[in-house]
Amino acid sequence: MHIAKLVPGMETSDGAGVRLTRMIGTPQVDMIDPFLMLDRFDNEDPGAYIGGFPDHPHRGFETVTIMLDGKMRHRDSTGGEGVIGPGDVQWMTAGRGIVHSEMPEQIEGRMRGFQLWVNLPASDKMNPPGYQDITVDSIPVIEAEGVRVHVVAGAYEGAEGPAKSRTPIRLLRVEMAPGSVWTIAPEENRNAFFCLYEGKASAPDKSGRATDAAAPSLAVLSGNGETVLTAGPDGAALFFAEGAPIAEPVARYGPFVMNTRAEIIQAFEDFHSGRFGN
Ligand code: MN
Repeated sequence: MHIAKLVPGMETSDGAGVRLTRMIGTPQVDMIDPFLMLDRFDNEDPGAYIGGFPDHPHRGFETVTIMLDGKMRHRDSTGGEGVIGPGDVQWMTAGRGIVHSEMPEQIEGRMRGFQLWVNLPASDKMNPPGYQDITVDSIPVIEAEGVRVHVVAGAYEGAEGPAKSRTPIRLLRVEMAPGSVWTIAPEENRNAFFCLYEGKASAPDKSGRATDAAAPSLAVLSGNGETVLTAGPDGAALFFAEGAPIAEPVARYGPFVMNTRAEIIQAFEDFHSGRFGN
């Protein structure tokens, strides 16, 4: 696969004033089916994160939060609760409806990480909600030739990521030493991207010319076969994700992602009449 598009993301804020950069779910990159949204947060100033994300609902998809620095507490209406720290992952299936909060478990220091939204097919949107707390020590690490690959979901080099995903995806966190080379072969007919969060890396464009990406940036991949990434002189760190496209209509509004507008209106009605989270 080659780099079809390279974007820096869009500054925005969400929750109670948390500053973040939206990488997917913007006018530049609407979605990469089945990935609906990718938010990147990296704040040293507590004023930019301390408000967190107080109680709010979701329906119809899964949220995946990956911490790099700092601590965040998750609490939801099914009784799911956990604190995630550096390297930990929280995988929440909203299904037919959940109310949760995501609040910083710190009052100072850097808070850095990602939240990825993975869509669910129509047949799974109204499943019961679920929650997986995935600690850093349960995530396999495959190391070769200056490249460390943390296998969060899906299979890689004989390792299996601990996250159980309804939609077939592979999610890897990759740390590359200066000048190292990493080759990844996505499965056939998958959509894929990588989000560079440290350093520089290059990969071929459609004509085979090296395209240089500098963090922070999102590279949308296209085509078939393997992708060869080469880290810059200071190394690189990135998230790689691939997924089987769901190829269904997407109707989304705020915290709800369904197939039709009528289902979105139904989600609002159900939430406001207290039919969520039980
Ligand atoms: Mn949320």
